[in-house]
Amino acid sequence: MPLINSPSASSDVVVLGAGAFGLATAAELRLAGYKVTVVAPEGGAASAIAAGMIAPAMETAIDGLSREQSAILKRSRVLWADFATRTGIHLQHMPAEWRGEGADRLATSLENNEFEYTYLPDHQWIVTEEDAKLDPEAALAVLSQGVERINATAKAVRFENDVWTVDFGAGSITAPHVVVATGAAAAIDGMPEVLTALISKIIPVRGQIGITHERLADHVIRGPGAYIAPVNAGSYEGGSVVGATMETGVREVATDAQLCEQMTNAAWALLGHEPVEIDMEWRAGIRGASPDGMPMAGPVARGLHVALAPRRNGWLLAPLVAGQVVAGLEGLSLPEAALDPSRTF
Ligand SMILES: Cc1cc2nc3c(=O)[nH]c(=O)nc-3n(C[C@H](O)[C@H](O)[C@H](O)COP(=O)(O)OP(=O)(O)OC[C@H]3O[C@@H](n4cnc5c(N)ncnc54)[C@H](O)[C@@H]3O)c2cc1C
Repeated sequence: MPLINSPSASSDVVVLGAGAFGLATAAELRLAGYKVTVVAPEGGAASAIAAGMIAPAMETAIDGLSREQSAILKRSRVLWADFATRTGIHLQHMPAEWRGEGADRLATSLENNEFEYTYLPDHQWIVTEEDAKLDPEAALAVLSQGVERINATAKAVRFENDVWTVDFGAGSITAPHVVVATGAAAAIDGMPEVLTALISKIIPVRGQIGITHERLADHVIRGPGAYIAPVNAGSYEGGSVVGATMETGVREVATDAQLCEQMTNAAWALLGHEPVEIDMEWRAGIRGASPDGMPMAGPVARGLHVALAPRRNGWLLAPLVAGQVVAGLEGLSLPEAALDPSRTF
C-alpha cells in the first residue's frame, strides 16, 4: 500500500478506517475509478482478529435472525463470489457444523429461512454447505493493495466550499467525499450533529478469540460456548482459531483469562477431547453494533458517508455495505433500505 508522505494532499474520497468495511469500500471505489486515500492508524481493527466466517446460514440460526435480516446476509454472501474475484481475496468454500445443545432451534431457523442443511436430531448435529470462510489477515492485505494510505488517526474534520478536510495531526487531506468506517470508535471533532448522534448509538461488543499454530479442525465447528475454525493463510497458516465472546457494552481490549479458559474448555468438549495444553495467543477486538444489529451504510450529509456498526458479521456484510456506500456516493438509490443510516432505531 503506497504511503503518502506529503503533509497535505487531496483525493476523490477519503476513507477513515482500515477494517473490513473501510478497505472493502476503498476497494470498490478504486475499482470504480476513484482516487481513494485511507486514513487509519496501524492496528486496532476488530476485523484483523476475526475468524473470517462468511456464514449467513449459521449466523441466521445462532442469532435467531428475522427473515428480512437473514435475507440481507444471504444477499451479501451472493455478492462475495464476485467481490472475491474482483479483489483477489481467497474465499474458501467450507462446511460448517453445529454440535450439541440447541440443534433443534437452529434446524428450525435454517428450515424457516430456506437454507440447505443436514440435521441428525439423535446426535444433535447439523451441517451446512452454505457458508464460507476467508482469512482476515490475508484479506486485509489484499484489500490494501493499490490503495494510498496515511497511517494516522483522524483528529478533526471540517466542510468548507463543498470540500471536506480531514486533519490527522501531522497534516491534512481534502476530498469532496469522506467515508467514515471507524468501527466502534468515538466521533471525531467537527462531525455534524447527525453523525455524532448516529455514532453515539453504536454499542461496543467485545469479542475475545484465541489463535494457535495447532490444527484443531479442518472446517468450522460450532456449538455451545465456542467455535473452532481453521486458519489457512497469514502468520498462523495451518493453525486454528477458537472463539468468540460477545460481551455487550465492554470496550476493554485486555483479555480475560477466565473467559478464555471457559472457551477453551467448550472447544475441547466440542472436539470430544480431554483438554490438552496448547500455545494459544488470546486477542480481543471491539465490534460496533447498531441498536437493530444491522449496519449503517450510506450518506448522512453532503459528501459524508458511513459504513458502520455490523455487530458480528462485518466480513460477511462487507461487499453489500461497500456497494451501498458507492451507490449513495454516486447519488443512486440505496439498494438496501434496511441499512440506510437515516432509518429510525
Ligand atoms: C473475535 C471476533 C471474531 C469475529 N469473527 C467474525 C467472523 O467470523 N465473520 C465476520 O463476518 N465478522 C467477524 N468479526 C468481525 C466483526 O464482527 C466486525 O463486524 C468487523 O470487524 C467490523 O469491521 P469494521 O471495519 O466496521 O471495524 P474495525 O475492523 O474495527 O475497523 C475500524 C477501523 O477504524 C480505524 N479508526 C478508528 N478511529 C479512527 C480515526 N479517528 N481515524 C482513522 N481511523 C480510525 C481503526 O484503526 C480501524 O482501522 C469478528 C470480530 C471479532 C472481534
